[in-house]
Amino acid sequence: MDPVHIVGAGVSGMGAAHYLAQRGIPSIIHEAGTHVGGRAACIRQGEHAFETGGKNFSSGWKRFNTLLNEFGIAEFEDQHPGFHIVLNDQLVALKKSATLKGDLRLAASLGPRGALQFRNFLSFARQNADRLNYTSGLIAEVERQWDHSTIDRHFTQRLTDGPLRLFSIIMGGAEPSELYPSLMMLFASGFGKGSHHAIKGGIGRFHDRLAEGKNIRFGAKVRRIVTCDGRVTALELEDGNRLRSEPASRVISAVPAHVLRQIVDLPAYGRVAIDALRYFPLALVNVVYDAPVFRDGVHSIMFEPGAPLGHCSANRLTAPHHVRFTLSGKAARDILDRPDAELVQIAEDTFSRRLPITANRLAVHVARHPGGICGYAPYFTKVKQDMLRAVATLQGLEIAGDFLEGHTMEGCLTSADLAVQRLLLPAAQTSVAA
Ligand SMILES: Cc1cc2nc3c(=O)[nH]c(=O)nc-3n(C[C@H](O)[C@H](O)[C@H](O)COP(=O)(O)OP(=O)(O)OC[C@H]3O[C@@H](n4cnc5c(N)ncnc54)[C@H](O)[C@@H]3O)c2cc1C
Repeated sequence: MDPVHIVGAGVSGMGAAHYLAQRGIPSIIHEAGTHVGGRAACIRQGEHAFETGGKNFSSGWKRFNTLLNEFGIAEFEDQHPGFHIVLNDQLVALKKSATLKGDLRLAASLGPRGALQFRNFLSFARQNADRLNYTSGLIAEVERQWDHSTIDRHFTQRLTDGPLRLFSIIMGGAEPSELYPSLMMLFASGFGKGSHHAIKGGIGRFHDRLAEGKNIRFGAKVRRIVTCDGRVTALELEDGNRLRSEPASRVISAVPAHVLRQIVDLPAYGRVAIDALRYFPLALVNVVYDAPVFRDGVHSIMFEPGAPLGHCSANRLTAPHHVRFTLSGKAARDILDRPDAELVQIAEDTFSRRLPITANRLAVHVARHPGGICGYAPYFTKVKQDMLRAVATLQGLEIAGDFLEGHTMEGCLTSADLAVQRLLLPAAQTSVAA
């Protein structure tokens, strides 16, 4: 049987290979880089495992937890119970279970109107957690009501600069003036769906098992998905310095949407849909110190607007000496091109203004993500429909990726599973599935 060619060995690409293998269908993954995991890669250096992006998962995620069971991965660590936000120049605690009823200091910081808006927002997200997805139709309703303007235009400034900025920074590496309420609602609903954990030993253990038995070609950059008369016919590949063509009749693209746009010719409405997606580049700096850096019940800090550091957390509750600094948000984008050493220093200096660092660095890793955490667009339901409709005009092509079913590893796996299902549908049914 001809293999399915997959572009990209991130969670989406490896997920697609896994769902194909379950059906006995062989695949070849072409990966431009040197390792698996993409934006959720785990880079091992000596005794250290640096998780450079996605690492936390929810007990409520069906596909991710099914794979953990299949892989026999059963040792987890709890995620932080809450965050601290720099609000009015002070560190204010925000528990994930926040109701504001018992959290008077936060309520006071937000003011009466902000507190009321926040309470209403959170209770809507929690009560509708199971229906806030791209299949139930509720998100489309939220989009219709709210996506006419960005998050900051809907809520009081104190609320926007505080807890809601926390959501937009963690969810998208973006400012509330750059994201839309439907996306924030989707993210906030995650707090209502199970508890959050990380894998003991690092997300790399998950990738290792997902990659097992798969045919992955590293250093193979796909330059073009070649089509002729509306069908996929070949891949143009750059292997080292060599350009070559490989026949391919079935391809799953599992790269971010802006890369997809460059490697395949889509109808104009598909290109317009992709162009509506915005990506917010960021850098993630991991530093291991010789002594704890987090203390006094603080495990995770969201910095104020204008700070070059968006968010920062202890890599694990049990590892207060291993710090993940995320340089994200508008101010961070001004400095992202500086050398690694400068980024580390800027991160530490910003952090030290809130919690002075007295420990020494033992190991450092800097990862840059030009594709940010995900691609975001207002009225996303329509954007997604147009992307899928455009892809469906090319027989033998399917797409997976975090920009389709939600900006999490579960979203990646869902998109991968759906891409495989669409690819295997008889041609006559393809337009219906899209
Ligand atoms: C800082 C950060 C924190 C995050 N935290 C979480 C979290 O806690 N929980 C969670 O669930 N999610 C989290 N995410 C999101 C999650 O990491 C991503 O949604 C997910 O990793 C995206 O996977 P993907 O396979 O769709 O894309 P990618 O990971 O981008 O994979 C695409 C792959 O394709 C390769 N590629 C690109 N172009 C080509 C080409 N032309 N030819 C061949 N290969 C190519 C790339 O090298 C890459 O390996 C986080 C992301 C970031 C950046």
